[in-house]
Amino acid sequence: MKKVLKEFCKENTFMLMSLFILAFLVVAVTLLPPQILRILIDTRLSVGNSDDLPLFAAGYLVILIMSGALEFLKGVVLTGLGQRLIRKIRSRMYHKATKLRECYYTEHGTGEMVAHFTSDVESVNALFTDGLISMFIDAMKIVGILISVWFFHAGLLLLLLLLVLLIAGITRIFQVNMKKAQKANLVELGGLSNSLSESIENLQIIRLFHKERYMEESYEQHLARNYDTKKKVNLLDSIYAPIIQLLRATAVTVIILLCARNNTVMGITAGMLAASIEFLGNLIIPIEALGMEFQKIQQGIVGIHRVSEFLDLAEEEKDDALKAESILAHLDGAEIRIDKVIFSYDGEHNVLHDLSLFIPAGDNVTLIGRTGAGKSTLMKLILGLYSPIKGMITLNGVPTDLIPPSQKRKLFGYVEQTFHFIPGTVEDQITLGDTNITREQVSKVCEACGLKEAILRLPDGYDTVITDGFEFSFGQRQLLSIARATVMNPRVLLLDEMTANLDSATEQAVLYTLKEACKNRTIISISHKLGELDAQTRIVQI
Ligand code: ATP
Ligand code: MG
Repeated sequence: MKKVLKEFCKENTFMLMSLFILAFLVVAVTLLPPQILRILIDTRLSVGNSDDLPLFAAGYLVILIMSGALEFLKGVVLTGLGQRLIRKIRSRMYHKATKLRECYYTEHGTGEMVAHFTSDVESVNALFTDGLISMFIDAMKIVGILISVWFFHAGLLLLLLLLVLLIAGITRIFQVNMKKAQKANLVELGGLSNSLSESIENLQIIRLFHKERYMEESYEQHLARNYDTKKKVNLLDSIYAPIIQLLRATAVTVIILLCARNNTVMGITAGMLAASIEFLGNLIIPIEALGMEFQKIQQGIVGIHRVSEFLDLAEEEKDDALKAESILAHLDGAEIRIDKVIFSYDGEHNVLHDLSLFIPAGDNVTLIGRTGAGKSTLMKLILGLYSPIKGMITLNGVPTDLIPPSQKRKLFGYVEQTFHFIPGTVEDQITLGDTNITREQVSKVCEACGLKEAILRLPDGYDTVITDGFEFSFGQRQLLSIARATVMNPRVLLLDEMTANLDSATEQAVLYTLKEACKNRTIISISHKLGELDAQTRIVQI
C-alpha cells in the first residue's frame, strides 16, 4: 500500500501541488471579507468618509466571487485526484487478485473480495479527500480566523477561543449520539424492509393459511421500533442547530456589550464588531466539519489496513510451480493417490475423516454418498483448491495444491454442480479467454456436447455476448460447463452431478460422447443416479 501511495504521489505531483496552493488560497480568501468590512467601517464610514465606497464594494464582490471560484476549482482537483487514487488502488488490487494462491478464492467468499474492492477502497479515498485534505483546510480556516482576530484584538481572540471549544465539544457530543441513533435506525429499517419483503414473498401462503393477522402484528412491531429510533434521530437533528445559534447569539451579544458606550470597554470598535460577527459565522461550518472528517479518517485508516492486508497476501509460489511443471510434463496418464486425508473447513468439524483412495491412470470412479457427505469437497481437494489438514493428495506424485494454474487446465477438466458465466462471448465461456484454443476446437466440443445448434441460433453465434445468461437454460449451462471442462482434452475429468439438469435422452448422449472423447482418461464423477454408472465404473462410497 505504501508503494502504491508513493507511486500515486509521484504520478500526480502537479495536481497535489495545485491542490495545496488552492487550499491556501481558499483559506486566505475566506479571511479577507470581514477584514475589508472592518477597515471600511473604522476608517471610512465612522469618520464620514465615503469617497472610495464603490472601490470597497467592488473589492468585496470580487473576493466573494473568487472565493466561490476557488472552492469550485479545489472541488474539481480534489475529486479528480480521488478518482485517480481509486483507479490506481483497484487496478493494483485486481492485478493481485489474479495472482493469489487458488485456495484464497475458495476459502474467502466473493462478498469479502467485493468489499475490499468497493467499501475499503472508497474509505481510503475518503480518508484523503473528505478526511485529511478537508481537515487540513478546515483547521487552517479556524486557525486563520483566530489569528486574524488576534491581530486586531487579543481580548476578542480569547472570547472566540472559548466559543470554538464550546462549539467543538457540543458538536462532538451530538455527532457521537447521532451516529448511535442513526445506526439503531438503520438496523430497524433493515428489519422493516426484511419483514415487508418476507410478507410479499409469502403473501399467497399467508392468505392460504389465514396468517394475515400474525404478519400484520409483526410488521406493526417493526414500524413502532422504526418510529422510535427515527424520532431520536430527528430530535438530535433539530436541537443541534438552535443550540449552536444560541451560542453564536450569546457570543455576539457579549461582543456588542463589550464594545458599547463609545468604545470605552476594551477598545472594540464598530468595525471590529462587524468583522467579529462575520468571523463567528465563518467559524461554525469548519468546526462542524472537523468532527465528520475525524470520523472519515478513522474509517479510512481501517480501509488502508484492509487493503494493505489484501495486497500483502501470499502469491502463487514460482519455485513450486516450476517443480510441478517439470514433473508433470514428462508423464503420460494421470494417477491420483489420496493418502489418509483429513479435511475441515472451519478447523473444528471434519468433513473428510482419514480418507484413502488410489485411482490408477485411466480408471473410472464414481463417488457416491449422502447429501453433505463431502463428495464435492473431495473434488475441490483433488483440484488443489484446498489443502488437506492432514494427509496428502497427489497427481503422479505431485501434491495437487502445488500444481500451478498454468498446468491445471491441461490436467483437470472440472464440471461444477453449478455453472458460472464469465463476462464475454459464448466462445469465452468455453475457452475462458484462452487464445490458444481455436474456433475449430470450440465448435468440435460444442457439437460433441449437443450445444452447437443452440449456439448457432443465437444472433452472433459463438460471438454472441452473454448479457444475463438467459440465453441458456439450466441444462444447456451444464452442457457449456462440460464443453469448458473437456475442450483442452485434460488427463483427469472431475464431474460433479454432471447430468443433474439434463433430460434422459441428452444425458445418455452426453455420457456416450464423454466416454468416447475421454477414453484412457482418469474420470472421477459424483452421482446420485445409479443409472449413470456402467460396468467399468468403480463405485466408492464417501
Ligand atoms: P451434495 O450431494 O449435496 O452435493 P456433498 O457430498 O457434495 O453434498 P459437500 O458440498 O462436499 O457435500 O459438503 C460437505 C460439508 O461441508 C457440508 O456439511 C457443507 O455444509 C460443508 N461445506 C461445503 N462447502 C463449504 C464451504 N465453502 N465452507 C464451509 N463449509 C462447507
Ligand atoms: Mg456436492
